[in-house]
Amino acid sequence: NWDARLRVGSRDEIGMLGHSINDLAASLQRYRDTRRAFFSNISHELRTPVTYLQGYAKVLADGLVESDKEEKQYISIIYQESVRLEHLINDLFDLSKMEEGQIKLTLEWLDLKEIIKTAVRKVKLKAEKKRLSLQMDLHDRVPDIRGDRRRMEQVLLNLLENAIRYTEKGSVLVRLVRHEEATVLSVSDTGIGISKEELPYIFERFYRVEKSRARKYGGTGLGLSIVKKYVEMQGGTVQVDSEPGTGTTFTLIFPQEKKLGKDRINP
Ligand code: ADP
Repeated sequence: NWDARLRVGSRDEIGMLGHSINDLAASLQRYRDTRRAFFSNISHELRTPVTYLQGYAKVLADGLVESDKEEKQYISIIYQESVRLEHLINDLFDLSKMEEGQIKLTLEWLDLKEIIKTAVRKVKLKAEKKRLSLQMDLHDRVPDIRGDRRRMEQVLLNLLENAIRYTEKGSVLVRLVRHEEATVLSVSDTGIGISKEELPYIFERFYRVEKSRARKYGGTGLGLSIVKKYVEMQGGTVQVDSEPGTGTTFTLIFPQEKKLGKDRINP
């Protein structure tokens, strides 16, 4: 184990320097811990779909299915697992590009309502499977914002998938509100929530709230770090409010763009 902490006694500059070094050492240590957990998680997460793919493909290849219905079921599992694998690979790919500072946005005027509806359509089945109600409250006359379509959709999908994943009963609500100076998008759930102690860390790469929970729910600990990065790259900020046992709300705030000419407003 690694401990580079200094014993700091004085309150002068040297003392302050000592404190800063200790803070740095603590966050480095946390990074190393979460990184180690990440690699063990990611290997597990990658292995699981591959095991399914191999198992069911082999049964099909060996002609061991007993009915058309069974065959359909197996093919559907193979499809779903390959989708899961694709998500994982995309997250990893985005992460590695982020680490190299290589992500370039394709900016255009985005109608957030339309992007929200598309994302909600995609996760609808997941919500139905858990009998969660998935609702939208989208205000009229919300101006377009300048952003990257694919990234914005990814942000929403990550938030929605988390909301569904960490909610056992109740609802998930996406809200889009126009304020004087900003457009505010929020995703709320009535799920398990996040404790005060954990809240400051959830946007860190690889971070996952307590390990037992991590194993139960799957995931990689990358979703929220990608959310934060993408939102900030598009000029927005992310906030989170949560109450364990009651639910969580993630809020994205995009300041109003000053535009030349007419305001572009969606009816
Ligand atoms: P993961 O792949 O583990 O979901 P994320 O970066 O998306 O990774 O989230 C980090 C951690 O934050 C999660 O492991 C989970 O414990 C917690 N978390 C994220 N969203 C929610 C939510 N809506 N409700 C409760 N906990 C959440």
